[in-house]
Amino acid sequence: MTTEYYTTIGLEIHAELKTLTKMFCACKNDPDEERPNHNICPVCMAHPGTLPVPNRAAVEHVIRVGLAVGGTIADFTEFDRKNYFYPDIPKGYQISQYKYPIVSGGEVAGVKITRIHLEEDTGTSKHDKGDYSLVDFNRAGVPLMELVTEPVIHSPKQAGDFGRELQLLLRYLNASEANMEKGEMRVELNISVSADPKVFGTKVEVKNINSFRAVERAAEFETKRMIELIESGRGAEIVQETRGWDETKNSTFSQRSKENSEDYRYFPDPDIPKFKLSEVFNLDKMKGELPELPSAKRARYRDMFGIKDEDIESYVNDFTLAAFFEDVVNVLHADKEKVKLASNYVTSDLVGLMKKDSNIKLPHAHHFGELIAMLADGKISSRAAKDLIAIIVVEDISPMKAAEERGLLQKSDAGAIKALAEKVIAENPKIVADYKGGKETAVMGLVGAVMKESKGSANPQVTKQLLIDLLQ
Ligand code: ADP
Ligand code: ZN
Ligand code: MG
Repeated sequence: MTTEYYTTIGLEIHAELKTLTKMFCACKNDPDEERPNHNICPVCMAHPGTLPVPNRAAVEHVIRVGLAVGGTIADFTEFDRKNYFYPDIPKGYQISQYKYPIVSGGEVAGVKITRIHLEEDTGTSKHDKGDYSLVDFNRAGVPLMELVTEPVIHSPKQAGDFGRELQLLLRYLNASEANMEKGEMRVELNISVSADPKVFGTKVEVKNINSFRAVERAAEFETKRMIELIESGRGAEIVQETRGWDETKNSTFSQRSKENSEDYRYFPDPDIPKFKLSEVFNLDKMKGELPELPSAKRARYRDMFGIKDEDIESYVNDFTLAAFFEDVVNVLHADKEKVKLASNYVTSDLVGLMKKDSNIKLPHAHHFGELIAMLADGKISSRAAKDLIAIIVVEDISPMKAAEERGLLQKSDAGAIKALAEKVIAENPKIVADYKGGKETAVMGLVGAVMKESKGSANPQVTKQLLIDLLQ
């Protein structure tokens, strides 16, 4: 008999916040600064006698994220010192939040959030110099949001999806660029397996993950590793520890045993005043000013436009494309059928063209809308629609004019198509014989031939009827 195992995952996610200045000083918060130790000052370098002053914009970002996820915003909050020694923290402690995080609770993608708090980032070390290392403090003191989830995630895919949804949310809120590859968003994976769904197994924490795909792969790897240990009677070898993700080997490796919160000797930072947030912020007003969030946008697109989920995701993930689509919808007076048709051509043909060639830009919405209306009204074939899209993305021309110039307007008048149909019948005796022999579908071969002769401009319905009449 094989045992069934339950995977449990909780995530700890850090995101660098988008602010002009650092968390506690006036240094620039510039992730693109390449000159080492350029954005530093006595405060973020922890010179004696300097005092930290909290950055209001950073606090605002965390509150907005908290409001967006439906969390509870603390009224009382404070900053704590998290003491540890490492060359990239100038003070010998990191200013963080321990007992009184700004946000408690909330939910993203069906996953319960424990807390969201604010802290400062560390500097970065460079160990590629041989027998010495270098430290760059440009990042030291940059505002960092930390979000912790409850241990309620049960598959690698769900962990990846949560990360992607949170990234989207942070971008909608303009709180963070949240680029994983650049380290602007960092995911730590806590994971355990157990044969009993009511009892948690021992968890390990996995770090150095820099893509959502890697979150999923690391979770898959750990699940397998832990199950194999348990199955071979070596379950005791699963210990609470920090492991690193090795992207090239597709595996994790032990880094160090896990420190406890007691090890950090947390205590409230005596240099920073405590806050009563309601005295500083109008939360109702801030809530009212939140932008449309991804979940609301999905619901609106589903209800208003009735388009495919796949298309909705394309728009939810791309503001510019969504704005363009909504303009097209207006051009089409929100006619449901036309809107659906438009969405098909936006997400397949138009996006396809832009992916192939980065110089290709979105066309004018009124041109695109006109094109879709022409297609819906049978003035052009779907083949011609594709050709015209390729034209209006490079030329500022109305599709009607372009279609006229290039002879792409669909011929619906039987007279014009008749000559072509007769030619095709004369040239395809075998298909004609098949048709006359009772194979009705053979007529489509002739329709195709007429379409080809007309360079796609013959209306297929009209052509088919005409052929049938001629073959009587
Ligand atoms: P620690 O004290 O080790 O930091 P926490 O209780 O603070 O542990 O939880 C840290 C993260 O680990 C949270 O995201 C939480 O959901 C997750 N977590 C806690 N216990 C487990 C477990 N048994 N399996 C998987 N994840 C867990
Ligand atoms: Zn500074
Ligand atoms: Mg903890």
